[in-house]
Formats: sequence, structure tokens, C-alpha cells
Amino acid sequence: MTIHSELLELCKQEKRITSEILTKLQEMENRRGYLDMGYNSLFDYLVRGLGYSEATAYQRQACVRLVKEVPEIKKKIDQGSLTLSAVTTAFKHIRKKPVAEKRKLLKSMENKSSREVKAMFLEPTPHIKIKKTEYVDKVLLRLELSHKQNQKLEKLTALKSHKHNLESLLMDLVEKELRSYGIDQLKAPESNKSKEFVVSRSKNPRQIPKRLRNHVLMSADYKCQHPGCDSDHFLQIDHIFPVRLGGDQRKSNLQVLCAAHNRHKG
Ligand SMILES: [Zn+2]
Repeated sequence: MTIHSELLELCKQEKRITSEILTKLQEMENRRGYLDMGYNSLFDYLVRGLGYSEATAYQRQACVRLVKEVPEIKKKIDQGSLTLSAVTTAFKHIRKKPVAEKRKLLKSMENKSSREVKAMFLEPTPHIKIKKTEYVDKVLLRLELSHKQNQKLEKLTALKSHKHNLESLLMDLVEKELRSYGIDQLKAPESNKSKEFVVSRSKNPRQIPKRLRNHVLMSADYKCQHPGCDSDHFLQIDHIFPVRLGGDQRKSNLQVLCAAHNRHKG
């Protein structure tokens, strides 16, 4: 037998055992047998009584609870069209919903990867509408927020009110974020520290230390260094001589490219 066919066989057994465990846990839950044994919940029993990690215990418990309400999903789990991790992900979001809705949601989760299931329950990224008008001496931004977004902004403004009003708070956030890139003023001052940064402690040359990254960005005036391009958006640090060919993260081997030119370089 090849290793592959052995593994296939073991996976089949693993599935069968998982299924049997779920059935037994179901019985345990229905009789509340764990109470007599001194455990105060199914979760407690799974962790202390059976030695599961808390994460796995949570998975098992979520499944037992959902199968109790929507029994047909047991078969789906056994067949593999629903995975335990997908069911666990869903559990957090659907446990308070009525059974009919649970059933519908579980049905729509079939044959989806746990990543896809996670995406199903993500709240859509909130969208802010901004209208920008530029004048000679100023820029006017008209900001349209949902009430929820505004509540968050008001909350932060309230928390910071000892130091800021809304206007100064916004600029403070912008400046803090810029400083995290090593930018203090918008015109980068002439730097006389153009010394070579020696390869840092990090063993992985793809990982560029923040200080070095900021230095490279500053030397490039925060613009793409591809000839003829001066894009200041989507900037990436590129290894001139690629890492896969032995290039390192010395400053002389690093340049700033916009995403398009970095992709173009391949
Ligand atoms: Zn470019």
C-alpha cells in the first residue's frame, strides 16, 4: 500500500470516529450525564473529562448544539459537505436566530470552505463618502458618515476631549500615522545619515525592519523609483537583486517601487 492510500484510509476512519464521537456526545448532552459526574457543563466535560483543548471543545459543543436543533446537518458533516470548523464559525453568528433561519443558513454553507463561510458573516466594510474640492489656499472635504460611523467618531472625540476637538483630533491621527512611517514633516529634511544599514538580526531577508524600510522610503522621497514614474501610492520595498537569487536586505539592495512596477518586475 502506498502512503497515499494509507492516509486516505486513515482519513476515512478519522471521519467515522468524529461522527461517532458526535453521536455519543449528543447522548451525553441529552441525558446531561456529565452533571452526575461532577462537570458543570458539556464544555467543562469536554475539557476536563475528555482532555480536549478549549478550542476543540468549543467546536464539538457548537456542533452538538446545532445538530440538536437541526438534526439533518449531522449527515452533512459525516459526508463532508459541511465541515466542523464551518459549523463552529456559523455557530457564533446564528445561535440566537430562529431554527428555520439556522436551517436556511446552514444549507447555504454547504460545500463552502471555512474561509468562504467566514466571509458570509463578515459585516460589509463601511463606506465613507468624501467629496473633495480644492482651492488655491485650502482643500474642502465634505464627509458623509453613517450614524454608526459618526457615533464612533463622537466616542473617540469625547475620549480625547481633554486634549482635542474634532479638527485637531483628525490631524493628530493623521500625524501619528505618518510618524509610524518615520515622516515628521512633509518635506523630508536632508538626511546625513545615509550610512549603510547592515543586515539586521532577522534571518529572513524578506522581512525588512521598520526602521530600514522607513529609511529607504525617506531616501526615495516616498515615491516610486522606477525611471519616469513618481507615483506615491501603493509603495512597496523591492529587493533590486531578488531574495530567491540570494539578494539580501542591505540598503543598497533595496528600492521603492509602486505596486504596478513591482508587479511588472515580477
Ligand atoms: Zn511606479
